[in-house]
Amino acid sequence: MAVLLTNDDGIHAPGLWALYEALSIRHEVVVVAPEVEQSATGHGLTLYDPLRVKPIHMGNGFRGHAVSGKPVDCVKLALGELLEALPVMVISGINPGVNLGVNLHYSGTVAAAREGAIHGIPAMAVSIQAPGKHMAEAARFAADLADRMLHQGLPAGTLLNVNLPDRPLDRIRGIAISRQDTTRPEKKAYEKRLDPRQRSYYWLEAEFPRPGRDTGVDVDAVDQEFISITPVKCDMTDHETLAALRGWDIRVPGATGDGA
Ligand code: MN
Repeated sequence: MAVLLTNDDGIHAPGLWALYEALSIRHEVVVVAPEVEQSATGHGLTLYDPLRVKPIHMGNGFRGHAVSGKPVDCVKLALGELLEALPVMVISGINPGVNLGVNLHYSGTVAAAREGAIHGIPAMAVSIQAPGKHMAEAARFAADLADRMLHQGLPAGTLLNVNLPDRPLDRIRGIAISRQDTTRPEKKAYEKRLDPRQRSYYWLEAEFPRPGRDTGVDVDAVDQEFISITPVKCDMTDHETLAALRGWDIRVPGATGDGA
């Protein structure tokens, strides 16, 4: 069974091919990735445009399918159409730039892995601090971790979100199994500029200020030069709030049933 490899940076991104090289030592790897960059497109899908698939041949013999869509389109199309059998796992990355804290909601890298997990396939998203000078080493680590994930198994509907500091592996302090940081994003995250005709426009800042936060969270782990690994669930239900919500006694006006 093959490994499905994708990303949100486009099929020509170095992080994807670093991972391809590392994974293909022990696996058959099928690349299905967006033809152009789709960073921060989250779990978006293409509804009103056709999806075109082009075969890509890299000079070094690597092959893949370039899709005119978003990361989640790639995974859905691969599972439903392009692959002959379900992949043994779905790996997404390596994204040059961390996907931590609230940014998991915006990340196309994480969304692609999440789509795999939604289908019950073991899945992993891999990101490295920008600029990602140490892609090959990060890929080696990720490929080993992917094999460990296969061996240990993951509950269906859970994926691993992996983030590495951008440094050689022998200068990383260790592994931190961490929770997602929930620090709220800055409200003022846009730079206001003027175009040559003096009209204003807004551009999202590349770097966000980092206020103090708890230890044990993913953001802190990478700051402290650890590799952060967070198990992420597709089930978005807040199980702790279910009972409290039932206690709200919400009624449909005029309904005669007793409710569930
Ligand atoms: Mn990206």
